[in-house]
Amino acid sequence: MKKLIGCHLSSSKGYEAMAKQAMELGATTFQFFTRNPRGTKAKALDLEDITKFKEIWNTPYVAHAPYILNLCSKREDLRELAVDIIKDDLQRLTTIGCPYYNIHPGSHTQQGADIGIIQIADGINEILKVDTPVTFCLETMSGKGTEMGRTFDELKAIYDRIDRKDKIGYVLDTCHIFDGGYDIRTELDLVIDNFDRTLGIENLKAIHLNDSKNTLNSHKDRHEKLGEGNIGIDAIEHIVNHPRLKSLPFILETPNELNGYKKEIALIKNLSK
Ligand code: FE
Ligand code: FE
Ligand code: ZN
Repeated sequence: MKKLIGCHLSSSKGYEAMAKQAMELGATTFQFFTRNPRGTKAKALDLEDITKFKEIWNTPYVAHAPYILNLCSKREDLRELAVDIIKDDLQRLTTIGCPYYNIHPGSHTQQGADIGIIQIADGINEILKVDTPVTFCLETMSGKGTEMGRTFDELKAIYDRIDRKDKIGYVLDTCHIFDGGYDIRTELDLVIDNFDRTLGIENLKAIHLNDSKNTLNSHKDRHEKLGEGNIGIDAIEHIVNHPRLKSLPFILETPNELNGYKKEIALIKNLSK
């Protein structure tokens, strides 16, 4: 099977154009924002464009929710806004045929993690009242500020309260978990075993492949180019070849322009056994 490696792309010129862009970069997967990452506006879908997109793209890819959505804001109106936008996103992704929707669980904004867990699960339960073919993925976070999803156990506590467990998946971000204190540089097997015991490796749907500008357990979340950060290229090589990870989609969110992504995609193909 061909290696699934790609990067974050923009859908602003349409979905067919995005798929062609991915192909030009040598990508076999990709990720895109469902709408403006720092806003809530979304363009109406062009069904003709989506038909053309589906004709030329057939490997799994990931949609990323906007950053500003917060399912556990202390403000009720913002929690409701997040639920509404996510419902709309899932409908759009159903039309597009996208298999995975990835979202940052939220930031508890000084309410405490226990309240955060309840509010996130309540929001997801409301969202998943409407059936969807899209897998709803929670991203592993670094624990910056009051960010939720900073440990596998915290994600499990959210999962435990969710009704439609069959619809839930995870996206593991290498920069985030390293900054969150999981030593994927020297203890990759232990970290993966921990993930499996806590969340189930079969629920892991994609990897965000990023190096980190910061050190283990820094709780910072600043991505670095592959091999130029504190995770390092040797660990990256182990990650992309790990028997329990290697067939997943790997998505770069490194600080690069398109040409830099092209080089990193080629690098990962070369490192893949
Ligand atoms: Fe993310
Ligand atoms: Fe990420
Ligand atoms: Zn990040």
